[in-house]
Amino acid sequence: MTTAEGHPRAVVDLPIVRSVEGHFHPVPFFLAREMFGGLPFEIAGGHIGDLVGMPVADAHVHPVPEIYLLVSPKPGQAAIEVEIEGVAQLYESPAAIFVPAGAKHRFITRRACEGSFCFGIFLSKPAAEIR
Ligand code: ZN
Repeated sequence: MTTAEGHPRAVVDLPIVRSVEGHFHPVPFFLAREMFGGLPFEIAGGHIGDLVGMPVADAHVHPVPEIYLLVSPKPGQAAIEVEIEGVAQLYESPAAIFVPAGAKHRFITRRACEGSFCFGIFLSKPAAEIR
């Protein structure tokens, strides 16, 4: 089924796997800019239940802001250490962590159970300009 604009109403052949600066492996995207006729953000990432102590990327930068979204089946079941410009801080699920455009960053999973996810939400412009 398509929308009036001719775009598919649903995309089911996910994820879209793409290389991202600083990442050791291609990154799965679940929402990408080109979907539905153009989105103002992208969502990448996935399950971290088996990634404790294993960074998925070296410290890297993006030209746009990124928000880490950490979720788990129950509060506190996951924790990630987020490093922004060399300063590390531990966050427990659920948490949303804002990484400014151009800031060097990465995260390491410190605690996670089956069903814990960390997503990177890439904004197309500063958060204040998105309505
Ligand atoms: Zn990033």
